[in-house]
Amino acid sequence: MLDKNALCARLVGLLASPAVQQIDFSFGQYRVNSSGFRAVSTALLMKTLGYVGIDIDIGGVPIGAGAAYDPNTDKLLFPTATFGGTLTEQMIIVHECVHAIFDIEGFKFTGTYTENEGAAYVAGALYYRRSNGGGHFADEPKKTADRIARSIINAQGAVVPSDQVIALRSVIANHPEYRKLGVTMGTLALDSGLKH
Ligand SMILES: [Zn+2]
Repeated sequence: MLDKNALCARLVGLLASPAVQQIDFSFGQYRVNSSGFRAVSTALLMKTLGYVGIDIDIGGVPIGAGAAYDPNTDKLLFPTATFGGTLTEQMIIVHECVHAIFDIEGFKFTGTYTENEGAAYVAGALYYRRSNGGGHFADEPKKTADRIARSIINAQGAVVPSDQVIALRSVIANHPEYRKLGVTMGTLALDSGLKH
C-alpha cells in the first residue's frame, strides 16, 4: 500500500511537470492538453481518498507492453511499484495517462482504437523530446509518433494533419503486437474491451 502511494505521488508529480503540462495538440477527434492531465491527477487523488477515481495496480500488464490502462476497471497497471524512474518509463506513464484522459472524457465521439493509441504515442514522444531534446526511436510506432512530435513541438494547440494521423494509425494497425490483439483501422476504442 505504501509502495502504491509512492507510485501515485510519482505520477501526480510527473503530470504536474512542465514537460507534461506543455503538451497541447489534437490528433483526429482527440485533444490532449494540460486540463486533461490535471483531470487524471484529480482522479488519482480522489481514489486515494476513497472516492470514485482512477486506481493504480501492480501487475496485470499485458505481455509486450511496458504498462497499461484498463478502461474496464479504470486502473493504471504497472509491472513494479518503482516504475517511473527512467525517462522511457516516464514516457510510458504519459502514454497511459492519455488513455485515462480519454476514458474520463467518455471516449468522446466515435474514436477508433488506433486513433486513441496514436494520440497516446504522440503525447509520449512530445514528453520524451521535451525532456531530453530528441527521440531517436528505431522501433515503431514510436518512430512515426516522434516524427509527428518533432513537427508540432513548438506549436501550442497544434492539429496533427489528417494524412499524418492516418500514417500513424496504419503503423499501429500493421504492427505485429496490435495485429495479435486483432486491432484493425476500424476497431473502436469504446467497444474493443482491450487494455491500452
Ligand atoms: Zn496505449
